[in-house]
Amino acid sequence: MIEIMKKRKLKLGGLMFGLLCFMVLEGFSQEGKINKVLIIGIDGCRPDALLAAKTPNLDALWKDGAYSFKARTDEISSSGPAWSAMLTGVWHQKHNVLNNEYEDPDLEHYPHFFHRVRQEKPELQTYSVANWGPVHQILQEGDATYTATLLTDARVAKKVASLLKSREVDVMFVQLDEVDGAGHSHDYSVESPKYLEAIEKVDKQVGRIVSALDKRSSFSKENWLIILSADHGGSNFGHGKSIPEHMTVFFIASGESAKKGEITKEVGVVDVAVTALYHLGIPAKASWNLDGRVSGL
Ligand SMILES: [Zn+2]
Repeated sequence: MIEIMKKRKLKLGGLMFGLLCFMVLEGFSQEGKINKVLIIGIDGCRPDALLAAKTPNLDALWKDGAYSFKARTDEISSSGPAWSAMLTGVWHQKHNVLNNEYEDPDLEHYPHFFHRVRQEKPELQTYSVANWGPVHQILQEGDATYTATLLTDARVAKKVASLLKSREVDVMFVQLDEVDGAGHSHDYSVESPKYLEAIEKVDKQVGRIVSALDKRSSFSKENWLIILSADHGGSNFGHGKSIPEHMTVFFIASGESAKKGEITKEVGVVDVAVTALYHLGIPAKASWNLDGRVSGL
């Protein structure tokens, strides 16, 4: 009898384990909610300046999630190579975007992660909204359900908030650009009041976007992972070099599925795409040859 009960327990345990594996692989949370991803990229935002500025919305996200303020971006710390690293999951040696001209990206082998989503789960709705339009250049025909380029961060945030409230969104990438502009004009430094002011302003846009999630009619059935990072830092009114001031960025993963506290392992911007895919129930295949790993979950 005990033997039979033991066997039954084992069988049940196996079934539960199987169900759990299925849910993780299929992109459901443990509570049966549908997993979704919102990525917010803040161009040129240094982690030390983020910590020095008054940023209640960003603070709420990292304090309730997994974070690293020592993450690294591409050795070519310019927007083209770095955003491409974040969105493909590989460094410039593979994606081959070497500057902001996007001359010859290797999209065949290292496409935007929306392309992988489309291949693996074509039913998912993918959105990309940016202030800096070239970020869309690695999207191929049909990769995104929706793309938009808007001239100011305020307009980007307004558009994103309205899309999140009204549309069936599964994955959203948002690029905010004005902190980088402030860095170029007033220097990327905790000593630069105008740079900190720009970060405080972007924090309000982040707040606007995140609070739009709560207003989704389907929000209670959804498990959103919010990932925040930057393409690069900066110093002396510029960036692009392989130095810590330019290459050190923040990585934040917030939401029910995120761990809590500092991520102690090495984190790279290439982890953004891989972590997003994993949360959507698309674990990276070895054949994709990605450089990123799952971080913060
Ligand atoms: Zn710049």
